[in-house]
Amino acid sequence: MTSPAYAVVNLEALQHNFQIVRKYAPNAKIMPVIKANAYGHGMLRIASALQSADAFAVARVDEGVRLRKAGIINNITVLEGFSSINELEAILDYRLDTVVHSFTQLNMFEARTELKACSIWIKIDTGMNRLGFKPLEFATAYQRLKSCPLIKGPINLMTHLANADDKRDTTTFKQIALFNQTVTTLLKEQRIETDQSKCSIANSAGILAWPESLTEWVRPGIMLYGISPFPEYTGAHWQLKPVMGLYSRLIAVKNLDKGDKVGYSGTWMCTKPTRLGIIAIGYGDGYPRYAKEGTPILVNGLRVPLIGRVSMDMITVDLESQPLAKPGDSVTLWGDGLAIEDIAIYADTIPYTLVCGITQRVRIIEYINNLIKH
Ligand SMILES: *Cc1c(COP(=O)(O)O)cnc(C)c1O
Repeated sequence: MTSPAYAVVNLEALQHNFQIVRKYAPNAKIMPVIKANAYGHGMLRIASALQSADAFAVARVDEGVRLRKAGIINNITVLEGFSSINELEAILDYRLDTVVHSFTQLNMFEARTELKACSIWIKIDTGMNRLGFKPLEFATAYQRLKSCPLIKGPINLMTHLANADDKRDTTTFKQIALFNQTVTTLLKEQRIETDQSKCSIANSAGILAWPESLTEWVRPGIMLYGISPFPEYTGAHWQLKPVMGLYSRLIAVKNLDKGDKVGYSGTWMCTKPTRLGIIAIGYGDGYPRYAKEGTPILVNGLRVPLIGRVSMDMITVDLESQPLAKPGDSVTLWGDGLAIEDIAIYADTIPYTLVCGITQRVRIIEYINNLIKH
């Protein structure tokens, strides 16, 4: 017995999107970002499908440990780094690369004298004001890390863009300029040897729209999953293909009279006799609770509007345009033919939250080389 709600993860589309990253950043090494269960697509599945990647990036230490335990041998960068001694030990034990963004972490590094070592990325805060050393702190942090026995190889340097999804926002230029100035000028003045150091600035939006942000390493997340980081476009604009499709089935159809109300709180009232379809998907599956009335849904490939409230296990649609639709018919919530970027707009959110929000109850089916794997 299988749940009617399922997601198809198309690994061919993933490979295709990886090649689009290569097209935009032909000279860069690629570090696919597979944090948060690969944005809901399944971290191990995505890592296994992208083994040719130069490295992977995750947010947390435990995500990196899980990849190692599953046999992934690529370099793995932990973007948040460690926040306890236990996590630092795990980084050393499981051969993870860590971001170092604070003096708290630096002190923890200096306090250790064991033989194990790891590679690091120093994060410079160029305006996101989340993690990272301020440009004025950078030289000190670099010098101290340089003399730390726990660190092997050249120290790499990174920053994160805060506004790259808005092409008109000049913050991005300022961030890139501040990064370059901090790294090159300052280091030259201090006569620090950085020839071996590699830099990384670009996320998906940087890769697609800010060629100035391309350096030795790029960190694509959302674009690998076929989704546009820019709210005004869908992935198709960048030749990206959606990796996740979300599907379910009609489980009931009924005729309502004018004046009948639908769903919790009766927020929707029929203004005329209405053919109503009930679909087995809800916020318990990760369908957005705040999807507005009129959000498009495909029933047998044709668009119908959502009506009434999204509940935990079901949603309701107006089947006026589809008099022949019947229980058991197939439904697309997003995927081919229905852009997740559009659904996100109807739900007042961003597509990142939709893919990340898919719950355990949703069956995942892999699609690759015309083979469907359950
Ligand atoms: C999540 C993340 C990325 C990927 O961002 P996308 O917008 O999904 O491409 C890159 N770098 C860092 C530091 C991140 O946290």
